[in-house]
Amino acid sequence: MRFDDASRAIYATDASNYRQVPIGIVIPRTRQDVIETISVCRKLSVAVLSRAGGTSLAGQCCNTAIVIDWSKYLNHVLELDATKRFARVEPGTICDDLVNAARPYDLTYAPDPATHDHCCFGGMLGNNSCGAHAQMNGPAVNNVESMEILLYDGTRMEVGWLTEQDWKDKAAGSGREAEIYAKLRALRERYQHLIQLRYPKIVRRISGYNLDQLIPNEKGMVNIARALVGSEGTCVTIVEAKVTLVYNQPERVFLVLGYPDVYQAADHIMEVLEFKPIALEGIDHRLYENVKKKGGLHSEHLKLLPEGRGWLIVQFGAASQEESKNVAEQLCEKLRSQPNPPAMKLLVDKTEQKNLWDVREAALGATAFVPGQKDAWPGWEDSAVAPEQVSSYLRDLRALYDEHEYNPSLYGHFGQGCIHCRVDFDLYTEAGVKKYRHFMEEATDLIVHYGGSFSGEHGDGQSRAEFLGKIFGPELIEAFREFKAIWDPDWKMNPGKIVDPYRMDENLRLGPTYDPKEPLTHFKFPEDNGSFARATLRCVGVGKCRRLSGEGEQATMCPSFMVTREEKDTTRGRAHALFEMLQGNVIEDGWRSEGVKDALDLCLACKGCKGDCPVNVDMATYKAEFLSHYWEGRLRPRSAYAFGWIDKWAQLASLAPGLVNLATQVPLLRNIAKFAAGIPQQRKIPAFAPQSFRDWFKKHKAKSNAIGQQRVILWPDTFNNYFFPESAIAATEVLESAGCEVLVPGGHFCCGRPLYDYGFLDSAKQYLQRILTGLGSEIDRGTPIVVLEPSCCSVFRDELHGLLPEHPRASKLKDQTFTLAEFLEKHSSFAAPPFRKKAIIHGHCHHKAIMRMKSEQSLYEKIGLQYQVLDSGCCGMAGSFGFENDKYKISVDIGERVLLPAVRRADNSTLVVADGFSCREQIAQLTDRNALHTAELLSLAMQKPQLEDQAKPERQIMRRRKQAQRKSMLAAALALASLAVAGFVIVARRKSVLKYR
Ligand code: SF4
Ligand code: SF4
Repeated sequence: MRFDDASRAIYATDASNYRQVPIGIVIPRTRQDVIETISVCRKLSVAVLSRAGGTSLAGQCCNTAIVIDWSKYLNHVLELDATKRFARVEPGTICDDLVNAARPYDLTYAPDPATHDHCCFGGMLGNNSCGAHAQMNGPAVNNVESMEILLYDGTRMEVGWLTEQDWKDKAAGSGREAEIYAKLRALRERYQHLIQLRYPKIVRRISGYNLDQLIPNEKGMVNIARALVGSEGTCVTIVEAKVTLVYNQPERVFLVLGYPDVYQAADHIMEVLEFKPIALEGIDHRLYENVKKKGGLHSEHLKLLPEGRGWLIVQFGAASQEESKNVAEQLCEKLRSQPNPPAMKLLVDKTEQKNLWDVREAALGATAFVPGQKDAWPGWEDSAVAPEQVSSYLRDLRALYDEHEYNPSLYGHFGQGCIHCRVDFDLYTEAGVKKYRHFMEEATDLIVHYGGSFSGEHGDGQSRAEFLGKIFGPELIEAFREFKAIWDPDWKMNPGKIVDPYRMDENLRLGPTYDPKEPLTHFKFPEDNGSFARATLRCVGVGKCRRLSGEGEQATMCPSFMVTREEKDTTRGRAHALFEMLQGNVIEDGWRSEGVKDALDLCLACKGCKGDCPVNVDMATYKAEFLSHYWEGRLRPRSAYAFGWIDKWAQLASLAPGLVNLATQVPLLRNIAKFAAGIPQQRKIPAFAPQSFRDWFKKHKAKSNAIGQQRVILWPDTFNNYFFPESAIAATEVLESAGCEVLVPGGHFCCGRPLYDYGFLDSAKQYLQRILTGLGSEIDRGTPIVVLEPSCCSVFRDELHGLLPEHPRASKLKDQTFTLAEFLEKHSSFAAPPFRKKAIIHGHCHHKAIMRMKSEQSLYEKIGLQYQVLDSGCCGMAGSFGFENDKYKISVDIGERVLLPAVRRADNSTLVVADGFSCREQIAQLTDRNALHTAELLSLAMQKPQLEDQAKPERQIMRRRKQAQRKSMLAAALALASLAVAGFVIVARRKSVLKYR
């Protein structure tokens, strides 16, 4: 149970425009916990709201209530019966968990919202969710068999299919359950005619309660569970659901059709539907352009679309790819035979299919916070009409947007008539909110004109509920009220949504009163108009940061949530905490807030969110900014000085590395050293190299053919300089063999990476300024800089721009900084030697988020490496995170998710490659392997070693490293012993002289 301000702040909003601060949060471990929670709420007359993924777009997931978060513990597939084609799930079960469990049986749960890798059944049933593959078997309501429910008054029931006779029998009994069945029958009797008359006759009628489910189907059956689907937590608490599984048509192909515009694309929906696709999506050129503007991975995949400015993405599925391809080709043929056929592209390759689908599924994020455009919000994001009316509805809707001077993109599930838009409503000013209301009034009229539904996917929540009367009329609105009262006579279940709703323009998260503090900050937040407040507003709440696994080898977000499953440990939770901190009415202690610090505590500053979040929330930067103020004028914990100032300690240690290693590597002494630095005893302190890279380089004679050639600065970062000079030496060899003249800056320069983790931002700025001055002439001259440590490379590519955006040399340095592979690919004539060994590659989080790993992969391919880039997310060490006392367990848990088991599984002849110092430490400390830097890999390739030491090929390097360390420690020990003997002799002689006198 959490009643603290920060937890309440974190749960105050969902993915909608609304904000209601809950009374408290309960995270139940068992059903009994839920029963007891509701019992206590009943005694105290407090409202209840169930929540799981918290991704609702219409405001149904925020309320001034006790919020029950089902997602952490009650999240299992309880049963899967492939023969009878059903599964039993808990409210916190993630959609994909069931889809993946059903796949081996060629079955699936058809409705799969774009958030399917993190949305949960509680929300999907609560909202009557759909998704692209609802095309296969309709919305959630068509895919539920029965549910176990709990009422606010404590009644527990199982509801599902009933014959009329069963229903009568149940209603004839006594007690609360019988009363419910009797009242439901009476309600049906009274309103059946109106339900049949007024309910929109479209598949995607998500608005309103499912009272139509009380009317017997053609088999004379009703399903009370289905009547409760889509009730948005306003009637009952779902405890368990039995859901339908359908044949998954496993072998799929895409046919993509390009038209001159989205309206002409929509003109062809009905003829495409004749071919029975399993999904039929539409997108317009605005979405295309937004994705392009945002850049990143998805923009590269836009090339999969054929020529056009409006597209239909048609997916076919069957038992074999041949079959699905055949149907796609038949459609092609038909379209080709008509005048003005569309441009067509058939995608059979599975990677291409996934890439294109990712573009479509990323649409919501792609339409929010587009650089150079007004902010866009939900509100009219999922209206639906019959598919045959989409083309004229789209034209009318665009005219309405034009009239109101809004400019959203139009896309969605065209095959079922559901149109998505994120609209540039002005939610900041009174006039803007008024205009938003005016638009909503006209848009709802337009939908009524088309016989459609305000919501075709996301529910009514607060944003559409007040208009429901336009579709259903006052009598059915009264029926809704009666329906709710049958289940929830105390009116305590998620009140103010669907029935007797809040107005669409109250409880706004922004609104005319939105007036956040605009504190002075170290980072300048250039992408957010210089405003930290705006940066904290970025999160659109769709919860991609709640995924439990990566979404491919380049994905990282969010490692802390992946192991804790706590909302506060998501990027979203942290963004919401910071938003509330600047609002100041729940979290009142600003930068000194312990609650916000706690929410940021497990953030690994991995930048996974900056790379993976659809709106690029950059929590690592926000955390550094927060910590700089939190600690201002106060003493930080000792680990902050131990790790934050590691460049200074390392410089000092390089005067006598053997001596320092004695203190950090020898038993007992090392225990004391760990205690002093706040390092957990389970960790090993990395040993200093006997000779730093800089010292090696001073004595190094460059290859004569390299002098005067392409100059390149090799950045001597703290880690590769003082700890792992082997990587930098290898890089020197590689660069020189590529015909470059390698320069290494003299003097003590450090990019300051470790400073950010503890909020030493004044120092970080000074470090950067020193570099911009010290390397000024080379920067001005355009000399490229190769940075081996990815986290340091990302300082020049990312933080530098945020801290000193106006410094004339900052953008030059940013543009001149490369990873080794990037440099070799772009600026050298490096003839990569063939090296056909097997390797597993772990990308550093900053590398994946900021630089991406395209050049590395291209280089590996050129040398013929048989490599696999692991979908390992974060290694868990993340700079000094894993070296901190209280983070050890979570650090290991993150590493054990994918990376460490993959390293242990790799056979002994497979190389392990990781460019990040902390990743290599995590691997070395928790497995029996050592990872190599790409530079070392290339150097090995160049040496063309016989590799007689096939088992664990990195052994030669490690053996040399360890021998050198041991030698230096021995020398230090001998020096110490000699000093001790000399001291003893001096003292003894002094004593004997005194005695003699
Ligand atoms: S932080 Fe990003 S990924 Fe997470 S909910 Fe917000 S917008 Fe989505
Ligand atoms: S920086 Fe990493 S750990 Fe922190 S919020 Fe972003 S993804 Fe999560």
